[in-house]
Amino acid sequence: MSEKDTILEHLERQGISRRSFLKFCTLAASSMALPLSSVSVISEVLAASPRPRVIWVSGQECTGCSESLLRTYDEYPVERLILEMISLDYHNTLMAPSGSAAEDSRLAAIQGGGHVVVIDGSIPLIENGAWSVIGGRSMLDVLQESVVGAGLVLAVGNCAAFGGLPKAAPNPTDAHGVDDLITNLNQLSINAPLINIPGCPPIPEVLTGVIVNFILSGGQAPELDGLKRPLTYYGKVIHDDCSRLMHYQNNEFATSFDGDEARQGYCLIKLGCKGTITFNACTTKKWNNGTSFPMHSGHGCLGCSEPNFWDRPGGFYQSLL
Ligand code: SF4
Ligand code: SF4
Repeated sequence: MSEKDTILEHLERQGISRRSFLKFCTLAASSMALPLSSVSVISEVLAASPRPRVIWVSGQECTGCSESLLRTYDEYPVERLILEMISLDYHNTLMAPSGSAAEDSRLAAIQGGGHVVVIDGSIPLIENGAWSVIGGRSMLDVLQESVVGAGLVLAVGNCAAFGGLPKAAPNPTDAHGVDDLITNLNQLSINAPLINIPGCPPIPEVLTGVIVNFILSGGQAPELDGLKRPLTYYGKVIHDDCSRLMHYQNNEFATSFDGDEARQGYCLIKLGCKGTITFNACTTKKWNNGTSFPMHSGHGCLGCSEPNFWDRPGGFYQSLL
């Protein structure tokens, strides 16, 4: 936590109305599954809190995680407020400065500690990490420096959480997720809580909810599952709230994507849907500003919030039945 300005002071300077701020607080409460009665407390705490400094470092990734967060808010300025509530001091893909000026911003953000480190992308170890380099230094090196004194570390997207596509067989760069480097390989050490927010990409509302929770709780991590995912968002398999669940229970399964059965909403498990084994919030939070989710639109779940989903035997279209 850190800038001198409180969040409310910063928002006022940006010309953002209190009405928009309260609307954001209502969305945040809903995202964290809190009752509407909590909105006034959320708004009071957020308003008086300093903006947390955030350093976002990207390793081996496709930029989809950043795109997901930014593009979703194009037509929804209220939800974009999360980008005003944090001080995004370093994002090696998005920031205007480059070279040593960019790296100086990162080092300045680390001063004093308590910052949030967001990582997207996996971290390669082969050839001293030469396959993901920032400012001439390996991703692992930059990451180790960035997490010193951090208050929270977020591994965003399947690549950062579990290794993702770069780690898929034959894993040519010896890519790893953050927790693997800490827990199994002893290559990275952190003192802050690590939260995995997997998905390919993750749901932007989940990242927003985790950051708001960090501000509200004074730096505490939410309750996590065994894979370090927040239970609020990853506590249920997406199958439990799927619009095709009734057909699954009636043993009504689509056998082709373009047939009448699929159009009538039959279950897609025989076409490869992995919703029964995938923990995520797609069917409750939905995508594209709450418009829909994959099974509702006619395609099965690929299991993108689970470890090793690219390498699942049989591939994306192998039936689990
Ligand atoms: S389409 Fe997938 S998530 Fe939906 S009911 Fe069938 S198996 Fe479950
Ligand atoms: S439906 Fe499955 S594959 Fe699609 S985004 Fe959600 S968890 Fe990932």
